[in-house]
Amino acid sequence: MVQSSILGFPRMGVNRDLKKATEAYWGGKLSQAELLAEGKRLRLEHWNIQKKACVDVIPSNDFALYDQVLTHIQDFGAAPPRYTSQGLDAVDEYFAMGRGHQKDGVDVPSLEMVKWFDSNYHYVKPTFQDGQTFKLNPNPKAVVEFLEAKEAGIITRPVLVGPVSFLALGKPDRDQSVDPIDLLEKLIPIYEEILTKLKAAGAETVQIDEPTLVFDLPSKVKAAFKPTYQKFASLGDKIPKLVFATYFGDIVHNIDAVPTGVYAVHVDLVRNPEQLDTVIGALGPKTILSAGVVDGRNIWKTNLKKAIETVETAIQKLGKDRVIVATSSSLLHTPHTLASEKKLDPEIADWFSFAVEKASEVAVIAKAVTEGPAAVRAELEANAKSVQARASSSRTNDPKVKERQSKITPDFYKRKSEFPVRIAAQEKSLGLPLFPTTTIGSFPQTKEIRIQRNKFTKGEITAEEYEKFIESEIRDVVKIQEELDLDVYVHGEPERNDMVQYFGERLDGYAFTTHAWVQSYGSRCVRPPIVVGDISRPAPMTVKESKYAVSISKKPMKGMLTGPITCLRWSFPRDDVHQSVQAEQLALALRDEVVDLEAAGVYVIQVDEPALREGLPLRAGKEREAYLDWAVKSFRLSVSGVQDSTQIHSHFCYSEFQDFFHAIAALDADVLSIENSKSDAKLLKVFVDEAYPRHIGPGVYDIHSPRVPSEQEIKDRIEEMLQFLKPEQLWIDPDCGLKTRQWAETKAALTNMVNAAKFFRAKY
Ligand code: GLN
Ligand code: ZN
Repeated sequence: MVQSSILGFPRMGVNRDLKKATEAYWGGKLSQAELLAEGKRLRLEHWNIQKKACVDVIPSNDFALYDQVLTHIQDFGAAPPRYTSQGLDAVDEYFAMGRGHQKDGVDVPSLEMVKWFDSNYHYVKPTFQDGQTFKLNPNPKAVVEFLEAKEAGIITRPVLVGPVSFLALGKPDRDQSVDPIDLLEKLIPIYEEILTKLKAAGAETVQIDEPTLVFDLPSKVKAAFKPTYQKFASLGDKIPKLVFATYFGDIVHNIDAVPTGVYAVHVDLVRNPEQLDTVIGALGPKTILSAGVVDGRNIWKTNLKKAIETVETAIQKLGKDRVIVATSSSLLHTPHTLASEKKLDPEIADWFSFAVEKASEVAVIAKAVTEGPAAVRAELEANAKSVQARASSSRTNDPKVKERQSKITPDFYKRKSEFPVRIAAQEKSLGLPLFPTTTIGSFPQTKEIRIQRNKFTKGEITAEEYEKFIESEIRDVVKIQEELDLDVYVHGEPERNDMVQYFGERLDGYAFTTHAWVQSYGSRCVRPPIVVGDISRPAPMTVKESKYAVSISKKPMKGMLTGPITCLRWSFPRDDVHQSVQAEQLALALRDEVVDLEAAGVYVIQVDEPALREGLPLRAGKEREAYLDWAVKSFRLSVSGVQDSTQIHSHFCYSEFQDFFHAIAALDADVLSIENSKSDAKLLKVFVDEAYPRHIGPGVYDIHSPRVPSEQEIKDRIEEMLQFLKPEQLWIDPDCGLKTRQWAETKAALTNMVNAAKFFRAKY
């Protein structure tokens, strides 16, 4: 019999119950016992969902109150001393590492949080000491939750982050110099201990996640896999059988590092189906293949016929006993259930599958290959119908969009002239001083703005009333910018709920959900819009507000758009056409918007691309270059329709460009605004080294905190920047948009910023 399995289930619950519970606990409105009980309730509910869907192998320890890597940090005794010395109980120590703790005389910031591979999930980075030791929690969560499920009658497969990945994903603590992978010898006994305990508790198999195997690895890390798993193999029956799990990429380049003595190896066949043969060839003589054929990263219904074919290919080579059907990765990255979507157009809803629905898909695939397709005929027929309906739907295919894409010629990507000619024209048309000051787009999103937007969404005020309100907000920010004496104004983005959703709602080809939340970090969830079909712009999206702003401004007004890559990255993309095609469609839509803005008198236009870097493929090399090529092209396509005298800006929320500077330069934006107040000014050196000729506004103060930077601090920062950038290149602006700030601190900070700019203006 071919088993079905799931690598992990979303934790939030059908109504983001976990978010609500943890936030209530943090806010003192729920006791710790109540919070833990809610966690337990959710785990049980999720196990039962999977059981009901007839999934054979159900995971445990995939749950976490904040983050699964953080669970390991705590259970392995790897919490840095600054947390363990505070006298906090285990739960509060755990949250202190996740989100900081500032209460009752304790004041510790959180551990660093970083993106989990190329997903939008963030994990807490293990942070090690020189002389780090480990000690297993006497009641490790993996064992507790295994027993909890067992008591409920479900024998689960506990999930652990593997030792090599746990270390490779970590870093030395500040001022420490330990290379995490050197700690492996000390960590292995902890795994032996926890695995022994799991076996004693009754666990037959354990899923051990080693996703770092998809990276380009330092040789020391790569060489660590085989001996580690050799040691586990030597323990024989004392520990459960291990399913060595990789995902989010292929492992062909590291195939010689895959251990042969493990019970099973899991690979992501959605992301990289072509690795199947190589992986099969490298399996030990008895090793099972866990075939990840149901996408854990997206919301589309699985094409069951195709998935079955893939699994059959594996069965032909390995036999039925040596194949498990699985999700490609944990389902953590998918929303809970489609059943919650009451407002989706049924035509579109029929194309989707969220975690609950994907659980049934793995079970159906396993049954089809075990008993033959006849056993699940009805399911397969319904699936084929949905797949067919989606492929041929007029919502998916818009011939007009395709026709336009086919007519793109090389000059669509090029501004009319090179930068020196452009900047001369812009100097004439805009008349900006040296060290021009501006902001990144949004101004404080006040409670009043949210109230009015809510009223409008609910139909309690009319479109005209809402529009009047937005105009009054724009008037206010224009007036404030006049008073502050900024040089390039913005309209403040009061009408925007979110920088991607706002555009998605105005484009054809997008769909929106009401409940499809996905955990981003801790209790934070996002609800990405979904690209369902060919994208086009039925009407201008931002022109009205910008035009109004221009009409009341004495200085240049900057139009504000979200770039094609960011729109795509922060949505669920289609899986039936390449992302470059979707980016190109977005770019064409934005191109029209840019041209319309210019026609409306907006001669400075900023196209934000904060997500450009996170789209970078995990491995350097061909794939990454190909991505950068189409990403840069889509940006250029979106902005190149304007006159030389119109100034194109772009914004990035970071300043580490070393790895892909050529792409940033290739954007050919007249002005780049980037984060820099929290980073080393030395990061700007790359602009000198590469003789970057265009203008740059490295953020002079941090917008993530209410703290008001003094004029002197900003001057010092500018002075530092001038070591790397020429005065005529330098713009003065904050790190990012100001939407999360209050007005009082915003005005104070910008006053100091403008004064600092004026100081240098007088000096040069
Ligand atoms: N223009 C956007 C704003 O100011 C940019 C946000 C971002 O870069 N994340 O809010
Ligand atoms: Zn930003």
